[in-house]
Amino acid sequence: MEHQEKILIIDDSPVQANMLRSILEDDYEITVAHTAGMGLHHAKVGDFSLILLDVIMPEMDGFELLKELQEEVVTRHIPVILITSLSDMEHEERGLVLGAVDYITKPYQPPIVRARVNTHVKLYRYRSQVERQSMIDPMTGVPNRRSYDLNCHNKWQEAIRFRQPISLCMFDIDRFKVYNDTFGHPAGDKVICAVAQTITNYLRRSTDFFARYGGEEFVAIVMGSSAKSTFRQLKKICRAVEELHIPQTPEAGPWVTVSIGGVTIVPERSDCYDTYLKIADTMLYDAKRFGRNQVVWSATRMERLEQEEETDGTV
Ligand code: GH3
Ligand code: MG
Ligand code: MG
Repeated sequence: MEHQEKILIIDDSPVQANMLRSILEDDYEITVAHTAGMGLHHAKVGDFSLILLDVIMPEMDGFELLKELQEEVVTRHIPVILITSLSDMEHEERGLVLGAVDYITKPYQPPIVRARVNTHVKLYRYRSQVERQSMIDPMTGVPNRRSYDLNCHNKWQEAIRFRQPISLCMFDIDRFKVYNDTFGHPAGDKVICAVAQTITNYLRRSTDFFARYGGEEFVAIVMGSSAKSTFRQLKKICRAVEELHIPQTPEAGPWVTVSIGGVTIVPERSDCYDTYLKIADTMLYDAKRFGRNQVVWSATRMERLEQEEETDGTV
């Protein structure tokens, strides 16, 4: 069966909600919430393509809820259509100013409801697709530089807030210019894809972030692990790339390898992200200088954490 888009109806009146449901349920998967609170809860967890929101509700009215939906990162992208009464011109205006995409006035004609809903779901689907594509590097299929730029500061803030270690990590394929010069650019592209895939396979936690930084360089952000265990994980990745056994040129070979530099830190408010990214880059430079195909790591404020791990035996 074809995948159905999900629509959330928020209306305190069961009669009204059921009317909307019956108009739309042939084409969409419908969820109904009868209070603003439940509506907000569903909107946060439900992966909806559209919300139909009744303006007049007890407890919290539609406008307040609309404002909350717009403020939440996880819900602000979901289009909202307001359901208003015919007499409420000024309501409609206020709703549109607050960010609703459209409104439907009661009493409504089912074909019109269906048409407007279809239009907005289609627009939403199109927009999501464009947004997804704009974050992905088309060659490797991993997140691109733009995605990294949009994510890195959130990760950093999260680490500060939860007093968690964060690791910034730079990768660079070794002697890649001579690889390209010898085997050609298309063969080089395949290597970049293979290396990206291999690294991705080792960074599988939902909190891990990995992106193509540019050319034959990659960047990773690992949350919550100590310097020691991150360093160990990165050494595995370094070995895994070598063990792909992609032949290099004799002068640079035998195999294609990668150099990795990184830093782990428990950041404080006064710390600057760029300072630590620079440290990761310096570590990468050292990895190259020390002979490539290796990981060089720096750790700050890790001592307490590592002692804890040692006594726990959880490393
Ligand atoms: P090092 O070990 O010091 O990193 O040496 P290197 O040759 O890898 O360093 P350099 O940065 O001088 O060369 C990077 C090369 O990567 C240059 C370019 O030919 C190649 N490259 C960059 N982006 C791409 C790409 O998208 N596809 C291919 N095939 N090659 C690329
Ligand atoms: Mg490079
Ligand atoms: Mg290189």
